[in-house]
Amino acid sequence: MSYVLECPNCGPREVTDFGFGGEYVERPTERPSFRELNRYVYFRRNAAGVQREWWVHRSGCGEWFLAERDTRDNAVQWTALPADAPAPGAAAEPDVELAR
Ligand SMILES: [Zn+2]
Repeated sequence: MSYVLECPNCGPREVTDFGFGGEYVERPTERPSFRELNRYVYFRRNAAGVQREWWVHRSGCGEWFLAERDTRDNAVQWTALPADAPAPGAAAEPDVELAR
């Protein structure tokens, strides 16, 4: 399925211009326990709904940026450079069923 993503530098482009960098995961701020580090490195929510993701404009400017996309229909809510992105949880809460 093809859709359009908007690079913060270059504007709207076909998704085939971009590389998927995976689901955004909040990095531990302090020295993590083994369990927290394991969760940060290996576990993802894999949401059926809106999730925050890393993307790179590999056929364009090469910039890494964040996007929120609904994984059910690929509707992109927003894209932004990390410094300009809304704080996690500030945007609409994801409408998801967590995979267990
Ligand atoms: Zn770009």
